Amino acid sequence: MDQIKTYQKKDSFLKFKNKKKFENNNISIKISKILNDKKLINSFNQNEQSIIRRLESDFLKNLLKKNSTQFKLRENTIAEINSLDGDLQIINYLIHRYRYEIFPITKEIDKFPPLIQIEPSSICNFRCVFCFETDETFTNKKSGHMGTMKLELFKEIIDEIEGKVQFVTLASRGEPLVSKEINKMINYTSGKFLNLKINTNASLLNEEKAHTILSSNVKTLVFSADAADATLYKKLRVNGDLEKTVSNIKMFVDIKNKHYPANKIITRVSGVKFSNEQNFESMMKLWGDLVDQVAFVDYNPWENSYEKKQNNISTPCSDLWRRMFIWWDGKANPCDVDYKSHLCVGNKKGNSVQELWNSKEYNKLRQIHLQSKRAELSPCNACTVI
Ligand code: SF4
Repeated sequence: MDQIKTYQKKDSFLKFKNKKKFENNNISIKISKILNDKKLINSFNQNEQSIIRRLESDFLKNLLKKNSTQFKLRENTIAEINSLDGDLQIINYLIHRYRYEIFPITKEIDKFPPLIQIEPSSICNFRCVFCFETDETFTNKKSGHMGTMKLELFKEIIDEIEGKVQFVTLASRGEPLVSKEINKMINYTSGKFLNLKINTNASLLNEEKAHTILSSNVKTLVFSADAADATLYKKLRVNGDLEKTVSNIKMFVDIKNKHYPANKIITRVSGVKFSNEQNFESMMKLWGDLVDQVAFVDYNPWENSYEKKQNNISTPCSDLWRRMFIWWDGKANPCDVDYKSHLCVGNKKGNSVQELWNSKEYNKLRQIHLQSKRAELSPCNACTVI
């Protein structure tokens, strides 16, 4: 994906390991060559060309080792570039990667969000200890927060963003594979996005879903798992079973190797570093041979966003310029820390993605943050995302 997010706390914990080692130098030279291909660059529109020029300037500064505060190639970005086909895809990807990384710094928006997270389901079959799915005021059927997205709404979103947004994640508050329409949804995205990601706890993965994922052009499949020991796994991923998770991931890898050997999907096991009992080395031992990447991300107390003590952070939240969430019922929200949607900026039903992203409501949230007044908003007042 995109960046492995650590919520940038001072004591932030992040471990990330790519199985393959990629040469940063080789890829930088390749990109410099592509940026010099005038015919290719001229095929992009004015807005895209201006981003390409900014990219070019940052690249030059990086190559000359001048201090660039801006765009840098990170390990997961290089892995993603290596899974693309041809110069056109690479430059297109870089434009959208630039929007994803730099616009939240420069506080810019254009017509569409750099990343859209679409929620096939808010329902989850797990109750992980660090997750808001443990909040019964959220998961209670009467709360109105539980449900799965209708295929028509999903298609409407995809039709609007195809060619405009390249970074799309199918996941938000629940487990996406809970949706009975998930195969049709994934199929419908096929060939439409350069960077489509799915997050799953892998418990509901089966052969049919594995084939669907591998025959569509899903770029990254993230398996959420936080331990290599069955007892600890169960303690963290309540309702989960490590043996089943491992066997489902093995099944996926076997299908890929047998039927889709040329598929360049990136697989990652990503865990939340929640307790001292978790150990990255044992995670590597268990998962390292099965998937391309293993990561631990920092724990952020997602499970009680509305009851946490207020903090004194006044820095604007980067998510307001980086991504928009569209939930199963069409609600558009700036983040899933706010899992009960206090900050809702509108609904996809009756509004376009472009209208929502540029709406008065969204801009008001951005203004409040820019004026260092996020303390006025709940749950921003207790949130550590910057
Ligand atoms: S709660 Fe507010 S500060 Fe936290 S991620 Fe959401 S928008 Fe950003």
